[in-house]
Amino acid sequence: MPDFPICLCGANKYRVHNYKTPGNDFSVIICGACSLARTWPQPIDLPSIDDFYKSQTSHQAKFDELPLRQSFSHRPLEIIKKYFSAGSLLDVGCSAGVFVAEAKKYGFDARGIDLSESAIELGRHNFGLGEALTVGSLKSLALPAESFEVITYLHCLEHIVDPIGELSEAKRVLSDQGILVLELPRFFSLWRFLLGVRWYGMSPTQHIWQFGWRGAVFILERSGFEVIYAKKGLSMYHKITADFSGLVKLLIYAFAWLSKTGDNLFIVARKKK
Ligand SMILES: [Zn+2]
Repeated sequence: MPDFPICLCGANKYRVHNYKTPGNDFSVIICGACSLARTWPQPIDLPSIDDFYKSQTSHQAKFDELPLRQSFSHRPLEIIKKYFSAGSLLDVGCSAGVFVAEAKKYGFDARGIDLSESAIELGRHNFGLGEALTVGSLKSLALPAESFEVITYLHCLEHIVDPIGELSEAKRVLSDQGILVLELPRFFSLWRFLLGVRWYGMSPTQHIWQFGWRGAVFILERSGFEVIYAKKGLSMYHKITADFSGLVKLLIYAFAWLSKTGDNLFIVARKKK
């Protein structure tokens, strides 16, 4: 057995899935105890993770698909609305701020933070979000305790080296009645099984963690949260094209929708009492 790391749960027995891609063979190792899965070798050298995201400049693509991304922001917002009709909202890993802009339209006092200066600059320029967007990480900004009613990590937590430390800080910043909202690519899904390395959520150069229900619950409980709502859905990243592969995708899409085996895990949690 190669030299695998100790899992965040303390175990070190793994099931291993090996993947081959041109120039980048990698594994996803799945903890036998808690089911938390991770990409191995770990993407991005540890000391340079902040620098990696600071240097990312490919955010313009988000504006090419803006109506689609806006509409996908409405899915979490519709669910958040069931708990809070307004109030302070912080989107961690907000990128260019599409979700923050939509949350403001929904009536939230929304703010976003991201490590990428270029993404924040684009968001300020394109959406006029100004001071609502800040460069930094949750830990580096040391926000006041209990200062937000909603904190969201939408396709973000899988990029963070220390998810338990991160969510523990989110717990401090969240109000006692507040909600934590996670949207995660779901590794243990039909789409990943069928698409293998072509599954969007594999992202072996960026996704440190691969989640399923059990792994996500483990991280949340260790960080002091309890789940109050969960839903499996389909991610926005499956482009349906007008050819045979598009037809196959459409059929899988319908099946995944009907059988609730989607590759997007949506969770609402609150502080454990
Ligand atoms: Zn584990």
